[in-house]
Amino acid sequence: MARIQSIRGMNDILPEDSPLWQYLESTVATLLARYGYREIRFPILEQTELFKRSIGEVTDIVEKEMYTFEDRNGDSLTLRPEGTASCVRACDQNGLLHNQVQRLWYAGPMFRHERPQKGRLRQFHQIGVETFGLNGPDIDAELILLSARLWQQLGISDALTLELNSIGNSESRGRYRQALVDYLSQYKDQLDADSQRRLDTNPMRILDSKVPETQALLSDAPLLSDYLDDASKAHFDGLCARLDAAGLSYTLNPKLVRGLDYYGLTVFEWTTTALGAQGTVCAGGRYDGLVQQLGGKATPAVGFAMGLERLCLLLETLEALPESKPLADVYIIANGEACEIRALSLAESLRDALPAVKVVLNCGGGSFKSQFKKADKSGAAVAVVLGEDELANEQVTVKVLRGEPNQQQLAISDLAEHIKTTLL
Ligand code: ATP
Ligand code: MG
Repeated sequence: MARIQSIRGMNDILPEDSPLWQYLESTVATLLARYGYREIRFPILEQTELFKRSIGEVTDIVEKEMYTFEDRNGDSLTLRPEGTASCVRACDQNGLLHNQVQRLWYAGPMFRHERPQKGRLRQFHQIGVETFGLNGPDIDAELILLSARLWQQLGISDALTLELNSIGNSESRGRYRQALVDYLSQYKDQLDADSQRRLDTNPMRILDSKVPETQALLSDAPLLSDYLDDASKAHFDGLCARLDAAGLSYTLNPKLVRGLDYYGLTVFEWTTTALGAQGTVCAGGRYDGLVQQLGGKATPAVGFAMGLERLCLLLETLEALPESKPLADVYIIANGEACEIRALSLAESLRDALPAVKVVLNCGGGSFKSQFKKADKSGAAVAVVLGEDELANEQVTVKVLRGEPNQQQLAISDLAEHIKTTLL
């Protein structure tokens, strides 16, 4: 029968790759805890309306990338394409936003129907960080410094650039939008089809276009930074002053707008040239209007999300990989039913006595020779052998597998202590 394959763009993460993922995820989780951020988890499926209303009807994500379907009740559901909308929904629904400050993070798969390629998948993974209830540039700066510290810890700082912009409050954006439409209307027939359509529906999305001809037309377009009002400017200056004081360098990118409608004021991206076209590994910004837009009370908010596949690729490309660890420290070999039964309880007692030691028991029998081969492959430092003779004397043979070869017999009762002194 024909084998059933996975869905295109939805990858398996295999055991050989999971140490890298675990390293990345645990490094991020530990760092976030050090800044006082708490984890929140929410469903992968939401009502389609949630994403339409937050991300915006006229965006790449909502127009062409969402996995939307009717469930058995005829309700329109969507596999989450990002986490911010769900996070806001969950926080508001559970009363976490009322007169409170929240510093939160989440991790998990996101789904977008894009053309799969290196660093671009249909099921990909993000860690998102969101804060609520703080309207000053201090928290924007904290989020950016936190992400910078993460790159430092991962050893990839040198490959990443911080791009920063302010897209102003909605009044500033309104004035700018008009100026942009006036400018681009002169070149309407030279714009790509998507951008032509967006000239009427969502002109600022055009700035984010990936079509080179459109990008070329934009080089002389009016700049958002010239349209910022005083309050937006003050917020941005406050952020820049804080980053300067912290010694963090950044590039001002007046065309940075982000592909989601809910952003205002601060937007930023961490980009690299090491991954080809998919160069943004982390992106975020302020979204003070979103909570209210989703039916809650006006609540300032700012956050970002990082793409874990791209970070894994970057760690691999830069060879900034974690130290590889063996599958086992101790591998237990036994031959014959009676020895196997004794070995099982021996393995359990070792795990009781030595919580930090990885004990792998040979299962499935086999000759001593084939068991030693497996022991060697496991990377274990020692093999503990329980044969008929050993069992008769309540002893084991401990064979050192790495470095100086060495082998000795000891009483089973002394084994844990012996391993502790020689291995730990
Ligand atoms: P891009 O411009 O690359 O399409 P985006 O602006 O759509 O990215 P966001 O929605 O801001 O991306 O998501 C934040 C991060 O999630 C991105 O910077 C990227 O690292 C990652 N990401 C987004 N889409 C994908 C995808 N299809 N596959 C893998 N990672 C992704
Ligand atoms: Mg995208």
